[in-house]
Amino acid sequence: MTTITERLKHIRSQISDAELACNRQPGSVLLLAVSKTKPSEDIAAAYQSGQRHFGENYLQEALRKQQELGAYAITWHFIGPIQSNKTRPLATHFDWVHSVDSLKIAKRLSEQRPAHLPPLNICLQVNISNEPSKSGITLAELPQLCEQIAKLPNLKLRGVMAIPAPQDDFEQQRQPYKALYQAVAKLGQAELDTFSFGMTGDLKAAIAEGSTIVRIGTALFGERNYG
Ligand SMILES: *Cc1c(COP(=O)(O)O)cnc(C)c1O
Repeated sequence: MTTITERLKHIRSQISDAELACNRQPGSVLLLAVSKTKPSEDIAAAYQSGQRHFGENYLQEALRKQQELGAYAITWHFIGPIQSNKTRPLATHFDWVHSVDSLKIAKRLSEQRPAHLPPLNICLQVNISNEPSKSGITLAELPQLCEQIAKLPNLKLRGVMAIPAPQDDFEQQRQPYKALYQAVAKLGQAELDTFSFGMTGDLKAAIAEGSTIVRIGTALFGERNYG
């Protein structure tokens, strides 16, 4: 049986290889371990092997695991859909939120961020493949929203997150990331240093197009079982 430790090692080497292959700075891509539906024991196992950043999609499940793992120095990222009446626990219990998709949500997160905590790191989720069923803003909305969110005092707008429609072909996987990277570059804002691009199936393509955070679940923790 392959252990989480072995898988982690394998993913880390895949990331290093991809960085090298496209002349990226070694260590420029952060591995976010996506632990949704997986038990706290799995998070603890990855932690023991040096993993510190974990991503969760479901608020109640995340809060429970945070309690169970209170002794661990974990950086928690929220990457799931946001309900506007659930922003307070997000603002209180997370270091990053990748899935902000409206000014209303951003304002609430800023207002509700506790004063003793540093500004909340956020990414705007962009619906880059324009799928009607997916959350996220359009590319056209990006410039104005960035400008408005940059003014909110308790948020730090770090960049963008995307979940493109799945593709098998490497070149096709690259296209949506390339388009979004270029759109952000055009804004010319140096603070936007984060591209939350890439999952188990398209990590290499995402890194080739500038990813700085890959969000990996299946390759690390195995298939998810939604019971
Ligand atoms: C579940 C999920 C992931 C992880 O996907 P895998 O294909 O299992 O690596 C990444 N990002 C988001 C937003 C997710 O919901």
